[in-house]
Amino acid sequence: MKSIHIKSDEEVGYLRENNQLVSATLAYLATLVEPGVATIDLDIKAEEFIRDHGAVPGFKGYEGFPYTLCISVNDVVVHGFPSNYVLVEGDIVSIDCGTVLHGFYGDSAYTFAVGEISEENKQLLRVTRESLDLAISGISVGTRVGDIGATIQGYVEKFGYGVVREMVGHGLGKNMHEQPEVPNYGRHGHGKILSPNLVICIEPMITMGKRNIYIDRDGWTVRTVDGKNAAHFEKAIVVKRDGSAESLTTYMEIEENLRHKGAWVS
Ligand code: MG
Ligand code: MG
Repeated sequence: MKSIHIKSDEEVGYLRENNQLVSATLAYLATLVEPGVATIDLDIKAEEFIRDHGAVPGFKGYEGFPYTLCISVNDVVVHGFPSNYVLVEGDIVSIDCGTVLHGFYGDSAYTFAVGEISEENKQLLRVTRESLDLAISGISVGTRVGDIGATIQGYVEKFGYGVVREMVGHGLGKNMHEQPEVPNYGRHGHGKILSPNLVICIEPMITMGKRNIYIDRDGWTVRTVDGKNAAHFEKAIVVKRDGSAESLTTYMEIEENLRHKGAWVS
C-alpha cells in the first residue's frame, strides 16, 4: 500500500510558492482568454511566464503529456491538448496548470467563460466552483477524505449534475499525484482522517448531463459521452494544525483581472 507523505513546514512553504505561481499564471491567462484566441497561444505564453519565474512547467513531459497546460473546452472534461482551435464567444474553457519549483509541484485549475456565456453554463461554473469552496471550508478536526467527496457530490447533484468517477483529486508534493486519492463523490465519515500538513488537491470535475466519459483517440482528451459541457476547478490545500484548511491556490488575482476586463466571474 502506498503511504501518505505528511509535509514538513519547509515543504509546505515550497508547495505554497508553487501554487502561488500557478495562481499567478492562471491570473495572467485570465487577461488573455478571449474569443479569437487559439488555445496553443495560451500554452506558449504560460510556458514563458512559468520559466520567467524560475520554474518549470509541471505537466510537460509528465507521463508523456506534450504541453504546459491542459486546455479543456466545452464537452472536454480535463486533459485537453492546446491546439489551433480558436476560442469562440460562449465557450467555457478549463485551464489546468502545473509547475515544478524547488523539486515540488503546483497544480490548480480554473474554468473561464469566453465572452458572454449562456445562463446554463454560468450555473455549471458557479455550482462547480461553490462545491469546491464548500468542501474546503468544511474541513475541520476529524474531517475524512470521504467528507470532501460527499460534500461536493451532495451539492452538485441537487442541480442534476454528474460527478465524474474515473478521475479524482490527490495528494501533492514531490510527485504530482500522491496518496491519498480524493474522489469528488463519497460518504461522510468514510476514508482517512486529514492530518496537519497534509497537502491535497481537490478538483471537482462536474458534468451538466450524465457523468459518463470517454478518452479521445489522442489518448488524453477526456470528453463527456453525451456531449454536454463539463467544468473543472482545482485548488491545492494544506491542513493546518487547528484542523482547518488553508488554500495554497488563490483565485483572487484571476478574478480581479476578469472584473477589470468586464468578464463574467463565477
Ligand atoms: Mg490539475
Ligand atoms: Mg490535480
